[in-house]
Amino acid sequence: MLIGGEWVEAAGGETFETIDPFKGEAWARLPRGRADDAERAVAAARAAMAGPWGRMSASERGLLMFRLADLIARDAEHLARVEVRDNGKLINEMRAQVRYLPQYFRYFGGLADKIEGAVLPIDKADTFNYTSHEPLGVCVAITAWNSPLLLAVNKLAPGLAAGNTFVLKPSEFTSASSLELGRLFEEAGFPPGVFNVVTGFGVEVGAPLVDHPHVAKVAFTGSEGGGQAINEKAARGLKHVTLELGGKSANIVFADADLDNAVKGAVSGIFAATGQTCVAGSRLLVQNSIYDAFVDRLVAFASTARIGDPQSETTQVGPVTTPPQYRKILDYIDIAKAEGAVCRLGGRPATGAECGRGQFVEPTIFTEVDNRMRIAQEEVFGPVLSCIRFEDDDEAVAIANDSLYGLAAGIWTRDLRRAIALPRRLQVGIVWVNMYRAVSYMSPFGGYKRSGLGRENGMDAVREYLQTKSVWVSTAAETPDPFSIR
Ligand code: NAD
Repeated sequence: MLIGGEWVEAAGGETFETIDPFKGEAWARLPRGRADDAERAVAAARAAMAGPWGRMSASERGLLMFRLADLIARDAEHLARVEVRDNGKLINEMRAQVRYLPQYFRYFGGLADKIEGAVLPIDKADTFNYTSHEPLGVCVAITAWNSPLLLAVNKLAPGLAAGNTFVLKPSEFTSASSLELGRLFEEAGFPPGVFNVVTGFGVEVGAPLVDHPHVAKVAFTGSEGGGQAINEKAARGLKHVTLELGGKSANIVFADADLDNAVKGAVSGIFAATGQTCVAGSRLLVQNSIYDAFVDRLVAFASTARIGDPQSETTQVGPVTTPPQYRKILDYIDIAKAEGAVCRLGGRPATGAECGRGQFVEPTIFTEVDNRMRIAQEEVFGPVLSCIRFEDDDEAVAIANDSLYGLAAGIWTRDLRRAIALPRRLQVGIVWVNMYRAVSYMSPFGGYKRSGLGRENGMDAVREYLQTKSVWVSTAAETPDPFSIR
């Protein structure tokens, strides 16, 4: 683990293995951190706030971030390969993701010295009042297993630009790439303790980090249950939180859409990343007049998806990352069948020679799904699509909004009026029109309702890592009556 610029074992000396989901075998051994390690890491991050980092100008912070960006670009192939060994996602996807990460550090690194306060035209005589935006202090980042580096960088880039220090606790399933990132922080020349990585399990080392009285903020990406547990703890310590949680996003296809593009959009919404993406378009709402024909085209297209080794350039659907997730997906397939949904594609584990020793689920499409079914209400986080009928715009909006979640939605239409009017009516944080699953460091990302709190990416993100100070300076020659408020 990386704590205060030192590479250390867990204080208790324990370790755990990380598994390659395709080969089904352990490929690395990691320190199993506990409360002692959380304590050490927070102390290091706190000391770094008080050290050279805290005194550095914002421009100097930005320069360090630019250097880090260059190092990530240099090592992108290596980092992407590490990600694939840990999470089993496609090399094409992970390579593209890692190659994109430098832009986060460049965008937010450039922003670091443009965080400006204001001089306020205050309504008091002989008074000068201004605001400044200051870092929160020690931030804890806790990430999920599906895109470990991207999820970490979403937090680190705006948080460092704002002047905070970090302890990162990656998922116990996919920690290796976060440690590799630590090496690059060192090489870039960040002062020790600005970026610390502790590895281990959520309740063992994540919970003590969240509880720690010297932690000012917790930025979390993960499950709804994990987010609730963290939010409750953080509330007791009155800490800042951002929570990026799950979703049950509606991808809505109208009869007037370009249907070839809409088929591709539906597939990219649910089968890309084997459905292990928070913004998965797992509910496909299709207008009644084209429902049967559209589903036929979709099934034909999805049935050609190439399953196999995620390190191969030609694979389109890789393994499920973790054993619990694999069992959960198969359970939901059984639930959908028992609820009366019609399985038009897949619905089984995939077990051919191309699957190695990995745990694969066939791309699965259910039709005749009613939005009240569990398969339409609960997040599966796998390659399982629920197709739901609707008549008109009002019904599409009603079904899309009939969800406890509110992360994203897709709209497929050629009607300009609808393309502009509908996004306003959808209770979600992200709407894609005639596209799906695009993300940028420039554009806010986050959910409504139970999909989360706060925003990552874009200008919104840096505000999540700042607090505002109001400074009052009297220019009066004499202090007025001390017994009344000014
Ligand atoms: P998870 O909640 O099980 O674990 C996420 C992280 O939290 C891990 O590092 C884990 O060790 C830690 N953790 C768990 N319980 C904790 C506790 N009590 N205290 C402190 N730390 C704790 O989630 P997961 O299974 O790894 O990830 C899948 C979920 O993540 C899905 O629901 C998915 O939708 C969501 N996700 C959301 C986004 C988004 O940006 N909205 C992105 C990716 C994944």
